[in-house]
Amino acid sequence: MSLERHLYVGLGSNLDDPQGHVERALEELDRLPLTRRLSGSRLYASRPLGPQDQPDFINAAARLESRLSPLALLDQLQALEQRHRRLRRRRWGPRTLDLDLLLYGGLSLHTPRLTLPHPEMLGRSFVMVPLAELAGSWTLPDGRTIAAVAAGLDGTDLHPVLPAI
Ligand code: ATP
Ligand code: CA
Ligand code: CA
Repeated sequence: MSLERHLYVGLGSNLDDPQGHVERALEELDRLPLTRRLSGSRLYASRPLGPQDQPDFINAAARLESRLSPLALLDQLQALEQRHRRLRRRRWGPRTLDLDLLLYGGLSLHTPRLTLPHPEMLGRSFVMVPLAELAGSWTLPDGRTIAAVAAGLDGTDLHPVLPAI
């Protein structure tokens, strides 16, 4: 089995210049050990999940190629969150950077630290719509494509961020 797989990461930020955090993180993903970034989605603005007394999020998705194991990659993603001075206060609270490992090739994994595919992604338009830009034709274990799942979600509160001119 090849050590190199195509992997997808979801990015989110809603504190201290969220667009800046996401744009920098997209570049930093390309510099993780044994890893490079193959592509990135557009940026989207979304309403927060959970507590509503917090700013809107900026979200994006990235496609990586990596020779890191799933847990080693999670370690690197969490270290990158820490370099963005992420503090964990309350569940789904505001954060400078959230990096979720969405898909690691076709791997299914259930460990205390890591579940793959990301357990909540199928119901989240702010994850699936950016992901569909990169992997729309990817077929999930249930036979649906990522594009089909994304198209079936309510995207009312999701808006592409226009690039700065
Ligand atoms: P959600 O997981 O619902 O998006 P969250 O991103 O706010 O919530 P965090 O506080 O960032 O949750 O992460 C909690 C824990 O989730 C992490 O410490 C990590 O060990 C675990 N985890 C399990 N599966 C994954 C995954 N696929 N990607 C990232 N973290 C994961
Ligand atoms: Ca998350
Ligand atoms: Ca997370």
